[in-house]
Amino acid sequence: MRALVKTKIEPGNIIFTEIPTPEPAAGQVRIKIKRSGICQTDNVYINEGGFALKPPVVLGHEIAGVIDAIGEGVTGFEIGDRVITQTTFHVCGTCRFCKRGDLNHCPERKGIGSAANGGFAEYVVNRAASVMHLPDDLTFDQGACIEPMACGVHALTERTVVNAGSVVVILGPGPIGLFAAQTAKAQGAYVIVGGTTSDKPRLDIALSLGIDRIVDVLTDDVQQIVKDATEGYGADVVVEATGNVSAVKLALDIVARRGTFIPMGIFNNDISIDFHQIKKKELTVEGSHAQIPTSWEKAMRLVQLGKINTDAIVSHVFPLSQWEEAFKTVKDRKGLKVLLDPEN
Ligand SMILES: [Zn+2]
Ligand SMILES: [Zn+2]
Repeated sequence: MRALVKTKIEPGNIIFTEIPTPEPAAGQVRIKIKRSGICQTDNVYINEGGFALKPPVVLGHEIAGVIDAIGEGVTGFEIGDRVITQTTFHVCGTCRFCKRGDLNHCPERKGIGSAANGGFAEYVVNRAASVMHLPDDLTFDQGACIEPMACGVHALTERTVVNAGSVVVILGPGPIGLFAAQTAKAQGAYVIVGGTTSDKPRLDIALSLGIDRIVDVLTDDVQQIVKDATEGYGADVVVEATGNVSAVKLALDIVARRGTFIPMGIFNNDISIDFHQIKKKELTVEGSHAQIPTSWEKAMRLVQLGKINTDAIVSHVFPLSQWEEAFKTVKDRKGLKVLLDPEN
């Protein structure tokens, strides 16, 4: 099969090549991939490398397709079933996190698209326990969006709970930020999404999705806007979904006393912030890392209920063979969610 393989941890080292089509082992299924989403993480893996990588490995972890082969002992799936797969490829099954369903913290966890072969290929195998049926009323495009959506759902329904009428600020209007914003909206919050001047098209999409207010963090007085929306108190919840230090600083400035700060962006290096604000404001800091199985179930349900829209967020579908152009589209931020079609 054709696959996009990261051959070494170091920057670059990515080849589009033929590799053997994988066979599902006991407990696994093989998926013929219909759509595979490009995540900002994939760009980081290609351009900077990453400690989670176990090369050579096929990148890609946002996958929708159909069951194409079934390993020994698997029940509940038939050839031709429309499915998506969660990213967990292996967990120990016995640690305290596995027992609680917090698979994202299992010390033995391996994920597809980093430590095990992922979705930028014609086929992927994964453990059947990670695979979920894609309801008939959901498209493969929507299916491929469940992973980034589940990140926002985890942050805003599992790490913290958004109260109806509260004010939630999402910094970063990328796909994850816009899914998180819709998740907060679905829970009855007043939602403000912030981005930079170059994010204007993305902020306009936020408005089209029913987000209450957009702000340009470079030109607007964000602190004043948040004060005006909260009788001067500040935002109840602030989500940082950019990976920029300035966004963390802004988050700590605009979050209310006794409020909640949720870091979601990725920082590979130490950063400098005014740590005293956490103490002085008595903030709750709820880190949010990837997702857990329940986040996926909720995300899928929110799409079915019409609470989360993906149509405005999927900007491009490229044939897998045009992966270079697809990645450039993501890197140049011309697209929002860019999907690959491995059948072409
Ligand atoms: Zn992702
Ligand atoms: Zn475990």
